[in-house]
Amino acid sequence: MKCLGIESTAHTLGIGISTPERVIANEKSVYKPKEEGKGIIPREAAEHHRKTKEKVMERALKKANMEKEEIDLIAVANGPGLPPCLLEGVEFAKKLSKELNVKIVPVNHCIGHIEIGKKDTGAKDPLVQYVSGGNTQILSRSEGKYRVYGETLDIGIGNAFDKFARSLNLKMPGGPKIMKLAEKGKKYEKLPYTVKGMDLSFSGLVTEASKNKEEMSKEDLAYSFQETILSMLVEVTERAMAHTKKKELLLTGGVALNTRLREMNEKMAEEHDASFHVPKNEHCGDNGAMIAYTGIKFKEKAGKKIDINPKWRTNQYELKIKKQ
Ligand code: AMP
Ligand code: MG
Repeated sequence: MKCLGIESTAHTLGIGISTPERVIANEKSVYKPKEEGKGIIPREAAEHHRKTKEKVMERALKKANMEKEEIDLIAVANGPGLPPCLLEGVEFAKKLSKELNVKIVPVNHCIGHIEIGKKDTGAKDPLVQYVSGGNTQILSRSEGKYRVYGETLDIGIGNAFDKFARSLNLKMPGGPKIMKLAEKGKKYEKLPYTVKGMDLSFSGLVTEASKNKEEMSKEDLAYSFQETILSMLVEVTERAMAHTKKKELLLTGGVALNTRLREMNEKMAEEHDASFHVPKNEHCGDNGAMIAYTGIKFKEKAGKKIDINPKWRTNQYELKIKKQ
């Protein structure tokens, strides 16, 4: 079985192809805002996806060394995400489904990040730290669903990195640039640290760090920002670890590329006698491969009808497959 997966929930138009055993293609095109200093403009991103999807699919088919007609199943991330972007992916899935006479599996984008992480690392039942542009959640599986132990109350952690980066005139994606600057920082300056129970709030930290830019060097400021934001995240993850007693920790999503976060998690997991896992780099940020692979895993959910689900929560996705 060969499944073609479509990812279009935010900035990335990704097309992946997977068999039940392995990913055989993972191609993407990433939208960049036209105007400098701006974040994602949903309609612009959707236009990017519309213009690039056919070409990215051709590249994926070429990489997998196959024809379109060999596709057995289409998977699409139909939520959560930005409605105009989701629509592009879903419409494309519908068109292909009609043309090739194959079914479509709806895939929750967040579950896609988790499943590819488990596949790449062999983790079986991990506590999940899912950190991306728009999402930040601590999750673990219980009774057929992923339960949310803690999450952001405002913006996603990647978005927080990007917003702070924009205040330093650094272009999207800002996360990797802040990480590089932080490596050269030496002096830690206290910044707002907002943990509410098991939840997190990042906007106060972003606002305050953005104001501080006159008094401190960029490097020290980036270092203080990164140490603060990652400590908040690892603090709630550690509490979830102690509570759930899971023996595996899986870091996934675009912010999983942050080496300081990997280091902090590794140390924390070790203190709880747990192993620490991160997917392959190309599977950390949004990608089509994770949707294709997850689509095969949940192929029993496939049908001909599909709609977008912009506010779909990770804990609403049924993991136990009901036979139809
Ligand atoms: P995703 O939405 O999962 O594709 O992840 C994209 C987000 O990850 C963007 O907000 C990036 O700024 C962020 N990101 C990527 N690399 C890093 C990094 N090394 N450190 C922090 N954030 C990062
Ligand atoms: Mg994502």
